[in-house]
Amino acid sequence: MDPLKRLSPFRDHPLRREVQEAAENRPGVYRFLGPRGEVLYVGKSVRVRTRLLSYFRREAEGGKEVELLRVARAVRWEYLPTEFEALVRELRLIRALRPRFNVRHRRDRRYAWIRITREAAPRLVATRRPRPDGSLHFGPFPAPRRLTGLLSELAAEVGVRDCPAATPMHFSDQMDLLTPERTPGCIRAELGSCPGPCAGLCDSGRYGERVDEARAFLEGRSTRILDDLAERMGKAVARRDFEGAARLRDRRTRLERLQTDVLEFGRFLQSLHFVYHPSTPDEAPPGEAPSTCVILRGQLRVTLPGPTPSLDPDEPAGRAVRQLLLEPPPPPHHRGAQDWEELFLLARWFRRRPEELSRTRPLESLVRSRPSPG
Ligand code: SF4
Repeated sequence: MDPLKRLSPFRDHPLRREVQEAAENRPGVYRFLGPRGEVLYVGKSVRVRTRLLSYFRREAEGGKEVELLRVARAVRWEYLPTEFEALVRELRLIRALRPRFNVRHRRDRRYAWIRITREAAPRLVATRRPRPDGSLHFGPFPAPRRLTGLLSELAAEVGVRDCPAATPMHFSDQMDLLTPERTPGCIRAELGSCPGPCAGLCDSGRYGERVDEARAFLEGRSTRILDDLAERMGKAVARRDFEGAARLRDRRTRLERLQTDVLEFGRFLQSLHFVYHPSTPDEAPPGEAPSTCVILRGQLRVTLPGPTPSLDPDEPAGRAVRQLLLEPPPPPHHRGAQDWEELFLLARWFRRRPEELSRTRPLESLVRSRPSPG
């Protein structure tokens, strides 16, 4: 190709000169602004100057970045001590400003929870909105559609209903002798996958046991459902029903995965709870002290300047951190989509860089204990 044709049409862009003159190669976030000062795009880089200059080397062949440079009228950047802090700042800015050219993080990601409802005959359902009504929630899961299918299988195996909330319930131990005989509201009672509390086919105690079993499974306290599936699989093989055995094996694998996911997520959430030093004094940019990040249940709650070995509990910063540590864990309905997004972002950061965990220490070590009187 003719080398002249490959020259970027943006090599003389006024914003390029500004970047060349003022930007430094340090971690940070940048924003491109439109004619009315509106934020068009937010990005982050460990080397802000190099990253910004790369935009002006693009060839004029269309594409999102070329279109961005055509409409951008200003560019602003801010430095942050580390890539980690830049990453969190980028996410928060995108979620708050919803820039037109950002696709990642701009859309509300859909999550779903497993919900055991709080009703006379609790149901096992998937929900996108955890509610503060005493229901139990497990999750979230990033693939709501897949979860719905899995829950139907779990409900069938454990024997808990998954019909609409409005379905009338009549336990066999209910005192309503004058009501006519009832027929089950769906085929699950006939198939034996639901004890049929809608048609007086079970008492409240027996149904409650089914709900307890579902809860025990999701809390990792029981594998009865999996053991039962394995036993039925063995029987199917013994009678040479290999197709049936394969179906049971696949169902068992899916439900085992579901249980593992619920437990792993819970454990991971608990583990993202520490003080993190994303850089050492040697790695901090010249003139800047390495920062101390307080991460509580998967959220960056406070960034303290300096290496901060420990805080005085009588000083404002020490008091504030001590207060944070006393906070009870928020129930899922108190966390917005943004919080979950940040939790998954932090989870990805530490999962991809397990060596970073060596830069963490227990939260309690951050606040010095008061000397005991006397
Ligand atoms: S059998 Fe009755 S209680 Fe069970 S899922 Fe169907 S409608 Fe609901």
